[in-house]
Amino acid sequence: MSKPIVFLLEPSPGVAERAEQALREEFGAEFQILHEFTTDDALRRLEVLRTQGRHIALLLVAESLVGEEGCGSVDRVADWFPDARRVFYGRDETAPEPPVPGGTTFAARIPDPWTAPHVALFPVLRDLLSDWRPGAQASTPTVQVIGFQWSRQAHEIKDFLARNRVPYVWVDWERETETRRQAEAEGVEVGALPVVRFPDGITLSQPSDGQMAERIGLSTEAESPFYDLIIVGGGPAGLAAAVYGASEGLRTLIIEQEAPGGQAGQSARIENYLGFPEGLSGGDLARRAVEQADKFGVEILAARQVTGLRAEGPYRVISLDDGSELGCHTVLLSTGVAWRTLDAPGCQTLIGAGVYYGAASAEAESFRDQDVYLLGGGNSAGQAAMLLSRYARSVTMLALEETLSERMSQYLLERIENTDNIHTRPCCTIDRATGDGRLETITIRNVKTEEEETVDANGLFVFIGAAPETDWLESVVARDEQGYILCGAALNAEDGNRHGWPLRRDPFLLESSLPGVFVAGDVRAGSVKRVGAAVGEGSMAIQFIHQYLSER
Ligand SMILES: Cc1cc2nc3c(=O)[nH]c(=O)nc-3n(C[C@H](O)[C@H](O)[C@H](O)COP(=O)(O)OP(=O)(O)OC[C@H]3O[C@@H](n4cnc5c(N)ncnc54)[C@H](O)[C@@H]3O)c2cc1C
Repeated sequence: MSKPIVFLLEPSPGVAERAEQALREEFGAEFQILHEFTTDDALRRLEVLRTQGRHIALLLVAESLVGEEGCGSVDRVADWFPDARRVFYGRDETAPEPPVPGGTTFAARIPDPWTAPHVALFPVLRDLLSDWRPGAQASTPTVQVIGFQWSRQAHEIKDFLARNRVPYVWVDWERETETRRQAEAEGVEVGALPVVRFPDGITLSQPSDGQMAERIGLSTEAESPFYDLIIVGGGPAGLAAAVYGASEGLRTLIIEQEAPGGQAGQSARIENYLGFPEGLSGGDLARRAVEQADKFGVEILAARQVTGLRAEGPYRVISLDDGSELGCHTVLLSTGVAWRTLDAPGCQTLIGAGVYYGAASAEAESFRDQDVYLLGGGNSAGQAAMLLSRYARSVTMLALEETLSERMSQYLLERIENTDNIHTRPCCTIDRATGDGRLETITIRNVKTEEEETVDANGLFVFIGAAPETDWLESVVARDEQGYILCGAALNAEDGNRHGWPLRRDPFLLESSLPGVFVAGDVRAGSVKRVGAAVGEGSMAIQFIHQYLSER
């Protein structure tokens, strides 16, 4: 099989010669190094490589080419090779930063890189290339998902695979007749759709998350009946706690009902997480965290839901969705929040058939050259709009707010304003959705003028906030009116009510009303709903867990 490619676009012959040689020495064993002097030549060659089915892992563009030409090449590469990492490098640190092309999701600027590439440049490139690999398996046999585009179950399967970072090929039964004929010849019947075909020839019809988890090698059964720490929820808070806990000797199990990574795993690009100045996708963050947890021996159960929690003397007992139980000394609740659903007629029945909740990364490609709508005015809506704009013909953001600046970060707002195919409609909501088996129209209402307009819509992505799903913890731990879990000082109400706290000592900072049960991240009452905060709280919780264990 041909090697994936590192493609260099450098106009200066002297620099190009040095750069190519350095790249070959460093990356030549795994990657083919190609170079062109001009953007036109580069585009011609890239087009040929695309038709040959080759993979571009990294495009390196000299900053002197940034401007219309260089940006054009970067944009084109983003279209042709969506997985390719794109890096500008420059030689003049004092020059003003050039405009980054609209829709470009990553552009690192490394000054004077070829003088000592091992110092500044190669660590960055290595890091980027390690991120690239998981998404670049298309040339190896991949999982195939075969079904109808507007099937909710097919959407859920794609979302599950995407969130578990399993590369798959989507086969639309109605459009891709060749693959369909092949599947039919192999005995796949229309009534069995959606089906998932694995590289080893196993085909699953309408599989559950649990069946898929087993097939893709995720654990669904715990290895031991008892742990020092059981973490419920594998988002950033849970993963951070697991890394700290396991690295400090606690036998640690994470139980995650969907895929490790949590909400952050759905983020197209997190730009404000410390240590990643160019941002990183939620998928990358989740993959790194899972690898790190794995390194320290954390056990992770995926596609398993925790449905109950109780105290049994000094022990805590967790119930799972199949009725089985696991014991432990301590529990961390890091269950985050779940998307709020849109309560407009028609929307519920069209979920997965054109109406999606936070699933932009799994579905973006299906909406190539189509018109999509997005409801919501926060950062998650903004990130999804940027991602969708790379594929869709137009993305219309509908928001209740008068201006997006009310809830969206400035950097994201600027990107949205600079992206031609994103349009915004303030003071709007959706009153109705219609469609026969798939979304066809939505009715938009201006909440100020009360004017209504019904428009054709292929896709509607909904980002209208989130709420904790903690009903299963009712009468187990104290919660506020919205269901967020109280802990630490929040358990001491002014009227002396301690929300059922049973001990003479005060609860630790992140300890819930049930001693030994801790809480971290978005599900905590008063949390700030940021990746950094969730990671910080998850890490801190371990300190209190050690204190709790040492006092017993
Ligand atoms: C699209 C999007 C973009 C975002 N972008 C940014 C950003 O750019 N910067 C930023 O700082 N923040 C961002 N956020 C917010 C950030 O992702 C969250 O603050 C963070 O993920 C919270 O982490 P957490 O671990 O507390 O919870 P979550 O990430 O919500 O994880 C909780 C996990 O618990 C699991 N779970 C829940 N109940 C159970 C149960 N009963 N049994 C088993 N498992 C369960 C869930 O499946 C989930 O995986 C974004 C959020 C979204 C949705």
